[in-house]
Amino acid sequence: MATQPLTTSSGMPVSDDENSLSFGPRGPLALQDHHLLEKLAHFNRERIPERVVHARGSGAYGMFTLTKSLKDFTLANFLQNKGEQTELFLRFSTVAGEQGSSDMIRDPRGFAVKFYTKEGNYDVVGNNTPVFFLRDPLKFPDFIHSQKRCPMRNVTNPDAVWDFWAHNPQSLHQITILFSDRGIPKSFRHMNGYGSHTFSFWNTKSERFWFKWHFKTNQGIQCLTNEEAGEIVKHRPWAAQEDLFDSIESSEYPSWTVYVQIMPEQEAQRNPWTFDLTKVWSHKDYPLIEVGKLELNKNPDNYFAEVEQSAMSPSNFVPGIGASPDKMLQARLFAYPDAHRYRLGANYNTLDVNRPQAGAINTYQRDGQMCPYQTGKKNYGTYDNSTFDGKDHPSSDVIYKEPPMRLSSEALDRFDHLEGNDDYIQAANLFKVMTENQKQQLGSNIAGALSGAREDIQERMLIHFDRVNEVYGKLVKNELGKQ
Ligand code: NDP
Repeated sequence: MATQPLTTSSGMPVSDDENSLSFGPRGPLALQDHHLLEKLAHFNRERIPERVVHARGSGAYGMFTLTKSLKDFTLANFLQNKGEQTELFLRFSTVAGEQGSSDMIRDPRGFAVKFYTKEGNYDVVGNNTPVFFLRDPLKFPDFIHSQKRCPMRNVTNPDAVWDFWAHNPQSLHQITILFSDRGIPKSFRHMNGYGSHTFSFWNTKSERFWFKWHFKTNQGIQCLTNEEAGEIVKHRPWAAQEDLFDSIESSEYPSWTVYVQIMPEQEAQRNPWTFDLTKVWSHKDYPLIEVGKLELNKNPDNYFAEVEQSAMSPSNFVPGIGASPDKMLQARLFAYPDAHRYRLGANYNTLDVNRPQAGAINTYQRDGQMCPYQTGKKNYGTYDNSTFDGKDHPSSDVIYKEPPMRLSSEALDRFDHLEGNDDYIQAANLFKVMTENQKQQLGSNIAGALSGAREDIQERMLIHFDRVNEVYGKLVKNELGKQ
C-alpha cells in the first residue's frame, strides 16, 4: 500500500487512475465510474473568468519595514514605530493583454501590494507609473475597449487605440511615459511602483493630510527597446514571470525603497491637480520622504491559488488611512471588490492569500457560495448595536471613525477640468526632464505605433503633441516621415 493514497476529492482512496471502468477492454464505459466523472468534470471547471484588465500577473510574498515613524500624520498602526515589520503580498501585471499574453509588451505594469497589518489588510493597488490615462471613470470601459481586440476582427485596432487618445488629451501625460524609454520594463524588479492616487492620512489629533505612495526600485530602472523586447518574446514570452520567480528562488530578493509625498489638508484647494490621476505632485513642492523598505522573499507555492486568486482592492484601508475625492479612486473603491465577487464569489476574502492575518474577522455577513466558516457557531447571527453586544457579539466602535473630510461646497454637475488644470503642462514637464536621446526614442516609439492608424487620426495626434511642446510634435512628425 502506498503511504500517500491517491484519493477522490471526497477522500476515498483510488484503486486505479489510468484505466477507466469499461465493459471489456474495448469499452463502452460504465457511468458508475464516479472517479472518471469527477476528474473530467473538475477539469472542465479549472478556469475562472480572467480579469478584464491586469489579467496577466506574477506575485510574491515579502516584508515591509518601516524606517521612519509616520505618527505625526497617521494613526495607522503599521506606520507608528520605526523598525516595525509587516508581511505583504505583491502582484505585478501587465494591463491590456490576456492571461496568456507576453510579459514583454509596451504597457503600464500593475504594482499591487497587500499589507497584512494587525488592523486588517491594507492594499495599495497602483502601477509602475505615477499617473493614468484618465481622470474620470465614466470613460474607463470605453478606453479599455479601444485598446483591446476589436469585436469583429478580434485583433487590436490602431485606429481605435489612437482615436480614443486623439479625443482625450488628458491621456497625453501617460502616453508620454508609456512611449518613453521606460515603456517596457526589463523585469518587474527593475521598475518603480506608485500608489498613483492621492490618499488621506489622519492622526490622533484628527488632522488630515493628503499623501501619495512611491516605491523606488533598488535594482535600478532597466528597460528594453522595442527591438530587444521583440527578441525576448520570440524565446521567452513570460520572461518577467521567470525572472521574478527565479531571482527569489535563488535568494536574490528584490527590494524597493518606500517614500511618501505629504500635503497639508488645506493646500488641496490651492492646487487644481491635487486629486487628478493624470497629474503628479512636483517633487520640488512636495519632496519625497523616505519611510521604509519593501522586500520580496518568498514565492507562492501555487500560482492559481495565490496569484490568480489574489484579490486586491483600493477599498481595503486601515484606521488612519482613507480615500481622497479622486474620481478614479472613488470608482475603483466599487469596481475592484465587484470584480472579485464576480470572479471568486462573495467570500473571496476567506481564501488564504486574501485572508487578513489580524486575528478574528468578525462580520455579520452570512453565507454565500463557498462559505468556509459557520457564522452561527459563535452566535454572530445577529447585528451591530443589539441587546447581545459584548462577548461573542462584536460591535462597532467610534474610536475608528475618520474625521470629517472638509471639501468646498460644489454644485452637483458633470465636470471635465478644474479651472487652471490643463492636459498638456505635465506631459511638457516630463518632456523637459528627458535627455536628447530619450526624446528621440519617444518620438520614434510613438511614430512606430501611430503609423498604423489612419492619416486623419495621425494628424489629430500631431496637433496634441505640438501643443505639449513644438519639439515633441516635430520629432513625431519627422519620424512619421511627414513634412
Ligand atoms: P523632477 O525633476 O523632480 O522628477 C522627474 C521625475 O521623472 C523623476 O522621478 C524621474 O524618475 C522621472 N522620470 C524620468 N524619466 C522618466 C520617464 N521616461 N518616465 C517616467 N518618469 C520619468 O520633476 P517633477 O517632480 O517636477 O516632475 C516632472 C515630470 O516628471 C512629471 O511631469 C512627471 O511626468 C515625471 N515624474 C514625476 C514624478 C513625481 O512624483 N513628481 C514621479 C515620476 C515621474 P527617477 O528619479 O526614478 O529617475
